[in-house]
Amino acid sequence: MTKNHYDYIICGGGASGLLLAYRICNDPYFKNLSILIIEKDIKNTNDRTWCFWESGTGDLEELIHKNWDQANFTAEDFKLDFSLQPFHYKMIRSLDFYQSMNNKLSKFDQLTQIKEKVKSIENGIVTTEIKSYHGGMIFSSIYNTNSLTLQKKYPVLLQHFIGQVVQTQKPCFDPNKIEFMNFNVPQKGNTRFMYLLPFNSNKALLEYTLFSKNVLERKEYSDAIAEFLNQMPTGGFEILEEEEGKIPMTCYRFDLKNSSNLLHIGTAGGWTKPSTGYTFQRINEKTKELVDFLKKGEPLSRFGKRDRFWFYDLLFIDVLAKNNAQGADLFKRMFEKNSPEVIFRFLDEKSSLWDEFQIMRSFNLKQFISALLKRIF
Ligand SMILES: Cc1cc2nc3c(=O)[nH]c(=O)nc-3n(C[C@H](O)[C@H](O)[C@H](O)COP(=O)(O)OP(=O)(O)OC[C@H]3O[C@@H](n4cnc5c(N)ncnc54)[C@H](O)[C@@H]3O)c2cc1C
Repeated sequence: MTKNHYDYIICGGGASGLLLAYRICNDPYFKNLSILIIEKDIKNTNDRTWCFWESGTGDLEELIHKNWDQANFTAEDFKLDFSLQPFHYKMIRSLDFYQSMNNKLSKFDQLTQIKEKVKSIENGIVTTEIKSYHGGMIFSSIYNTNSLTLQKKYPVLLQHFIGQVVQTQKPCFDPNKIEFMNFNVPQKGNTRFMYLLPFNSNKALLEYTLFSKNVLERKEYSDAIAEFLNQMPTGGFEILEEEEGKIPMTCYRFDLKNSSNLLHIGTAGGWTKPSTGYTFQRINEKTKELVDFLKKGEPLSRFGKRDRFWFYDLLFIDVLAKNNAQGADLFKRMFEKNSPEVIFRFLDEKSSLWDEFQIMRSFNLKQFISALLKRIF
């Protein structure tokens, strides 16, 4: 029998909801608090594959399905074959994550998990299709696109893709090396690339990815993957699994929807890196920061702040939204002129000002200055 009041209510039991619940339950500081997770789905499928880079051993190491230390970056007339050191590129299958988290969470008496669909969150009350729950604090990972589409101030691109796990007849992948971004696919006026993660020499996950405003017909993504594979000595291939993503790339102020007792988390909280769409490792880090923040007893609206990286992303998205075909050239210049280690640190928002200055110098600054002037005036 569920109660009506909980100290913390977490809406959405996906990546951010489960990880936040796990971190709270594992911290003795919160042991007397009651926590409710409301999730609409049974999370029993591998609906996504999360990848991220990290140095050394991370908190979720036991869940890593595969990791790589070598990568390729490819663009027109440019190919860089590089070591990812000091980072490792790591993969987590979402089903392993959901099962492991739910299994761990089931051992905490303070936590209740229910399968209901949230209809609204207002004034500390979460209403589902079945009943209402009062929460001392509410954390919502329910991503609603309405607020994004109704505003014009921040352009919204999508990182959209279909990913297919394929099995080839002949060995044709280098199992130790990922294709981080391969821009040698027709750009058709957008930013388009192939991303390839090999499990072994016959099996890989390929994602045909765009950074653009509008999604494509499903067939276009799978045709592009087939076309890419047809240039390799596959001997034929079979599709084993498929997943799709539509991740917002925007500097829209998701945080303005927070209040003293409501915080949006995960993609819904703007935790996705606007210029790349990477979110998972940020969820990992931000849930840790959030747990520390909660101990201070401050209003939730004070969690997180904008910094210079938000501003770099703002200009990047402004430039890419204005001229969507620019992406291949921007990434190519970045990889041509900077070491991958510096680039990954920059994308992690842990670079020095000197690193950032070097990266800026790689670009044709005219378009960034024009974007900056537009923002100012
Ligand atoms: C296919 C795919 C691949 C991705 N790959 C990567 C990657 O490689 N690296 C990376 O960094 N990021 C990746 N991302 C982006 C991001 O990491 C994921 O989307 C991640 O799952 C975001 O976590 P979240 O908690 O914000 O959202 P989710 O994990 O989607 O969790 C939100 C939860 O809310 C639930 N929900 C929604 N509406 C309601 C409602 N009304 N009531 C109750 N529950 C509700 C949903 O069922 C879901 O479980 C990928 C995304 C997708 C879709």
